[in-house]
Amino acid sequence: MVILARPGAIVLALLLLGLSSGCQSDDKGRRDDAPSPAAAVPEPAPQAQPKSPPAPNKPSPVDELKATASIPQGLKCLKAAYPEHICSVSANAIHWCDGTKMAYDDGKAHKTHAQFLEGADLEDQMKQRYLIGTQYPEPPQDFDPGRARHEPFFKKMYGQDAKAVSRTLVPVFWMPKTVNRRILVTGVNGIDKKLKAVSDEIEALPEPIRKMAQKTSGTFVWRTIKGTDRLSSHSFAIAVDVGVEFSDYWKWARKPAGAPLPYKNRFPLEVVEIFERHGFVWGGKWYHYDTMHFEYRPELLADGCVLTSPP
Ligand SMILES: [Zn+2]
Repeated sequence: MVILARPGAIVLALLLLGLSSGCQSDDKGRRDDAPSPAAAVPEPAPQAQPKSPPAPNKPSPVDELKATASIPQGLKCLKAAYPEHICSVSANAIHWCDGTKMAYDDGKAHKTHAQFLEGADLEDQMKQRYLIGTQYPEPPQDFDPGRARHEPFFKKMYGQDAKAVSRTLVPVFWMPKTVNRRILVTGVNGIDKKLKAVSDEIEALPEPIRKMAQKTSGTFVWRTIKGTDRLSSHSFAIAVDVGVEFSDYWKWARKPAGAPLPYKNRFPLEVVEIFERHGFVWGGKWYHYDTMHFEYRPELLADGCVLTSPP
C-alpha cells in the first residue's frame, strides 16, 4: 500500500477507507439475509435512497477535508500561532478576524536571499524552519529562520506606525528581584506576560548564567534595519536584546572578502531555551547572527513548522 505523506491526505484516505468499509458491511448484511442463488429468486432491486440535495453553502465533509489538505503547512502554523487575529485560512490566504484577507504566496519564484528578505511574502516568512533546542549546528549559508518578515503582517497585528504601536506598550520589570529594570513591550498577543514569565525563569537560573542575561536594551524602537528599508522587529515592540555585553553580530565579524561568515556565540543556551519555550526565536541561530536578539515569533515554533533535524 502506498503511504501518503501529507497528513491531510492521510486523513482523507482514512475517511474514504472508512466510507468504503461501511459500504462493505452493508453489503455483507444484505448477503446474509438474502436467499441462496439456487432458489432462483431474483434479488430485490436495491431501493433508491431518496437523495436530499446538499444544503446550500455547506461543503461536504470530504470537500472540507480536500480543502484542508490543500492548505500549506505554513498557513496552518500561522493560524495556530495567532488564533486571536487569524480566524481562518484558505489555500492562499489568511483571513483576519476583522474580515480582511492577506495573500500567502505572491507567486514570485527564485528570489535571491536579498529579495527574500526585502520582498518577503508570508510564504517566505514561513520558508526557513527554525530548530528548537540547545543542540544546533552552525547555521548554513543564508539560513536565517525568522529574518524574513512580511511587513504588512506585523503592521496589521501590532500597529501601522510608531504611534499605533506605542498605544499597545506595557511595562515589564526585567528580573524584578535582582535587576528590576523597566522595559516596554507590546501587550498584543500577551507578549508582556510571556516576557515576564521568561524573566522569572531566567532569574531562577544559577547566578553566573543569570548574570549574563541581566543587561537588556532596545525593546521598542520604531526604526529600519541599518542599511535597509525594512523595519526592525523592535518597531513592533515584540523583540528584546539581552546580554548586550556578551553579544556577537555578523556585521562585526572579521573575514576575508568573499569568505563565509565565521559563526560566533558566547550567550548561554539555558537562556535561549527559556525564550523558545515562551514563543521567542533567537537571532543566534541565524547565519547572519545577532546573539542578543530575541523576538516573539510563535508561528516558527508551531507544531508542524519547526525543523525536526539540523538544517
Ligand atoms: Zn534586537
